Amino acid sequence: MTDIAVVETVGALRAAVAGWHAAGEQVALIPTMGALHEGHIALVKEGQRHARRTVISIFVNPTQFAPHEDFKKYPRTFDNDRAMLVEAGADAIFFPQVEEMYPPGYATRVLLLGPAAAGLEDRFRPTHFEGVATVCCKLFTQSRADFGVFGEKDYQQLKVVTRMAADLDLGIRIVPLATIREADGLAMSSRNRYLSAEERAIAPVLHQAMQALAARIRNEDPLFRAVTEAQADIVSAGFELDYLEARHAETLAPVTSLADGPIRLLLAARLGATRLIDNIAV
Ligand code: AMP
Repeated sequence: MTDIAVVETVGALRAAVAGWHAAGEQVALIPTMGALHEGHIALVKEGQRHARRTVISIFVNPTQFAPHEDFKKYPRTFDNDRAMLVEAGADAIFFPQVEEMYPPGYATRVLLLGPAAAGLEDRFRPTHFEGVATVCCKLFTQSRADFGVFGEKDYQQLKVVTRMAADLDLGIRIVPLATIREADGLAMSSRNRYLSAEERAIAPVLHQAMQALAARIRNEDPLFRAVTEAQADIVSAGFELDYLEARHAETLAPVTSLADGPIRLLLAARLGATRLIDNIAV
């Protein structure tokens, strides 16, 4: 394929998907904020395993950013994104303006309970998931896609969106994909491009510390002490740590030992002005 359809309105998106459905083809939607990297392309490839057609939305969603966050400076690299999606063989890009998603008079948000209130990202970004869920709910109903592909990189978000899609009978199956990493273990992220060379050299400490912690927990080291020491290692490497916690992999409830069920380690840490998140299974 040498080009890709770029649709900017809900009507054009619906028409494209309706045409595919009429031809008996299923559709996978991959919501993104653009500034695409190999992690996003892996989501497209996963979508192609489930559905004949893939649509990637590129929308830097203002309602999921707090006023002090990086909405204005979030990287916008549309031409490069489009070239990567052509190369990946995706079928369409949904690229709406803010006014298409939130026209004058817009006044609705999705209210979330459960995993959105687990005390992880929500503790530091209290309005974030409400914005994410609202835009995802709109994207799901706008597109009427059969599958929605999401990365485990944003683990709490994956749980929130999966819960919402089921609870609101949105008629879309959420497909998770494991985190794609750089060779040194750093989770790929659009925000990695904010890192200075010096910060980039430190950044893999996050994954290393989580891997070491996971090994200690599997080894039945006392969990609280192992977590506390991993937190200290991250801080002494130069990060400001928002959280590093061991949680139940499905409910996100706090755990105190291996016996409490499948464990997921989740963290958020700041390096200079850049906030990074990551998580791994134990
Ligand atoms: P964003 O990067 O915020 O635009 O996220 C768009 C989608 O890409 C979300 O489902 C993310 O979880 C996913 N994603 C971002 N980075 C990665 C990665 N390194 N590996 C897998 N999925 C990712």
